[in-house]
Amino acid sequence: MKVGIVGLGLIGGSLGLDLRVQGLEILGVSRQEKTCAIALDIGVADKASTNLSLLKEAEIIFICTPIKAIASTIQQLTPHLPPETILTDVGSVKAKVVAECSQLWHNFLGGHPMAGKAEQGIEAAEKNLFINTAYVLTPTPNTPKEILNKVAEIAQSLGANLSICSPETHDQAVAWISHAPVMISASLIHACMQEREKTVLELAQKLASSGFRDTSRVGGGNWELGVMMAQYNKEELLKSLLQYRQSLETIINTIQQEDWQNLEQILKSTNQERSQFLD
Ligand code: NAP
Repeated sequence: MKVGIVGLGLIGGSLGLDLRVQGLEILGVSRQEKTCAIALDIGVADKASTNLSLLKEAEIIFICTPIKAIASTIQQLTPHLPPETILTDVGSVKAKVVAECSQLWHNFLGGHPMAGKAEQGIEAAEKNLFINTAYVLTPTPNTPKEILNKVAEIAQSLGANLSICSPETHDQAVAWISHAPVMISASLIHACMQEREKTVLELAQKLASSGFRDTSRVGGGNWELGVMMAQYNKEELLKSLLQYRQSLETIINTIQQEDWQNLEQILKSTNQERSQFLD
């Protein structure tokens, strides 16, 4: 089977590496000649080009560009394709993307492999990135069943754990566990940088270790992606952040009032609840 990938960066490149190992023929397209050359060099694709017509024989095509370029890429791509070609994207936001792309191509299915790291671009692509991570597919009532089955089969072949839900439910859920954490983590770094005493700030930077590494990781990553998460999932992200602000204020009040019993209650319950997200 021939599989197309547009946007040979972290996610597109990592997909290519894993699918090629399975014996699929990977046709890769990216804007820059340099990206295509690296993709061929490191084994992301069998053929790579800056021209979308390379994908005319692909049975299924993954659109792995930044969120804002997904719909425009599909517009440029579809004149080259027979009507049975399956298109799926990997964008981190689904409701707006799926609404727009479903209008452009009947055989479109929204998807979101929830794997990532701070680095971006083809150089950051790596094998086995998707193992034991979530891969969400977001069909609409009009999505043909065979397309859902086909993309689900590929997602599972990557070692990912499949979830299926509506685009809207996806955006509500990821606002809590992905988009809000980016903003909260960024706020932490921003707040620390407001320390006025130079020696204190320098010592804090020197002492920062595993706790700070965990809590600051997603706020110190791909800033362009963070801005697009906010632009494309604004309402759900704001709901989560406003609730977060309320929870933070509760903790601040508890400390100001030296209500250690209440603080203990809160921290005891979060100690137990964390595993409901991560186990
Ligand atoms: P990335 O590493 O920056 O890769 C995107 C690639 O798309 C770039 O290498 C670039 O290659 C190409 N590109 C950039 N701007 C473009 C444009 N305007 N039009 C067409 N192509 C363009 O980004 P990524 O992290 O792989 O993210 C790609 C998609 O995956 C996004 O939709 C994102 O929401 C989603 N996603 C990301 C993560 C994550 O943690 N990073 C996780 C899950 C899903 P050229 O310069 O050669 O064109």
